[in-house]
Amino acid sequence: MADTKALYQEVILDHNRKPRNYGTLEHASHKAEGHNPLCGDHIKVALNLDGDHIDGIAFQGESCAICKASASMMTATVKGKSRRDAETLIREFRDMAIGKLDLTSQPHHLGRLTVFAGVRDLPTRVKCAILPWHTLHAALNSIASTSTEAEDDPMHAPIGNA
Ligand code: ZN
Repeated sequence: MADTKALYQEVILDHNRKPRNYGTLEHASHKAEGHNPLCGDHIKVALNLDGDHIDGIAFQGESCAICKASASMMTATVKGKSRRDAETLIREFRDMAIGKLDLTSQPHHLGRLTVFAGVRDLPTRVKCAILPWHTLHAALNSIASTSTEAEDDPMHAPIGNA
């Protein structure tokens, strides 16, 4: 467990120092803004769909370290993936963060994203980690603005199914 914790801290620090795909995206076909009033996180996700593939993606905003690291890893992971694969990852990440996905017994595609599994034990951080994914889901579905406190709260809303 100590190794997992060390890796988690290392990954968070690394992605905060050098966030991947941070900034604006020219010619974005889809974008959305996400808020997490609980922590004050506010991010924007912009992406460009080329047919069914996420050709380019970028994020920016003001957020805590966990949210920023999650957004950075998310953009690096879904870039080049199909919309369907991205929706699968959104669902799996959410399920992992809220403790619904058992990483050892259930199949998943999260890879390095499993460093965020520890947030399930930090209730106030769950929404920070989920916010970028929730915002990506909104962007893919052309919902301009979303909030972790909205009716379509990621904790309860069915995600995917596209
Ligand atoms: Zn936060």
